[in-house]
Amino acid sequence: MNKVIVTVAVNGSRPTKAMNPAVPYTPAEIADAAVEAHRAGAAIAHIHVRDPESGTPSSRLELFAEVLDRIRSRCDMLVNLTTSGLHVTGQDALEQRLAPVQLRPDLCSLDIGSLNFRDRLFANPPEFGEEAARRMQAAGVKPEIEVFDVGHIDQALDLIGRGLIEPPPYFQLCMGVKWGIPATPENLLFMRSKLPADAQWSVLGVGAAQWTMVAMGVLLGGHVRVGFEDNLHLRKGVLARSNAELVEQAVRIAQALQREVATPAEARAMLHLSGSF
Ligand code: ZN
Repeated sequence: MNKVIVTVAVNGSRPTKAMNPAVPYTPAEIADAAVEAHRAGAAIAHIHVRDPESGTPSSRLELFAEVLDRIRSRCDMLVNLTTSGLHVTGQDALEQRLAPVQLRPDLCSLDIGSLNFRDRLFANPPEFGEEAARRMQAAGVKPEIEVFDVGHIDQALDLIGRGLIEPPPYFQLCMGVKWGIPATPENLLFMRSKLPADAQWSVLGVGAAQWTMVAMGVLLGGHVRVGFEDNLHLRKGVLARSNAELVEQAVRIAQALQREVATPAEARAMLHLSGSF
């Protein structure tokens, strides 16, 4: 079976140091967390940025740039900058959200469909997905297509069919966000059945489902994502001391199930990314 790409989502926009003191806020903390997770086996780091003092979600481009530089100066892991902008509102929301694309990371997340995301609306109107795909294509940035429910996959297939996303498409199946598709094995099998034959896909589960979804993703030949963005615990009642500790546990699960873990170079090859940046 192919090797498994482990993505680490080190901070997201929601977890705080009050929830787990190891949640990184500053660019240095975020890059340290990513590099440490790389040493534990992660090939991709999915990055959000925070206001360095308060830890509140930020979309300041210089913070993204600093994190990217810090990671790239220390290791060859792939960097995936978020364009989710769940906290971004106002007239220029689209520009704010897509600004990280111009930094030319290896990947950017591309949120294709709207949903009620816990306590708020996660608005991704059709024009957002299309513009995001166009800009990523123009910049040579691979989209990581985040889908939170079955209909989102259909929207991605439309963009793929119109030539706005280069093959092979790379999907992140986001399972168990409150009001998105629940993280059950049956739902994951159904989501996977809707993907195009040439797709590369990864799965994430929120909360304790991080571990069931890692096991399922490994069994089914997919890739997996762990990290504080989705889950703060190693097991019930035990906070993870670091993102790297979550990656170590994912690697143990993969190895127990006889899947080898991909290096960044192997991940680049599977995703059809050039080795240069
Ligand atoms: Zn994210």
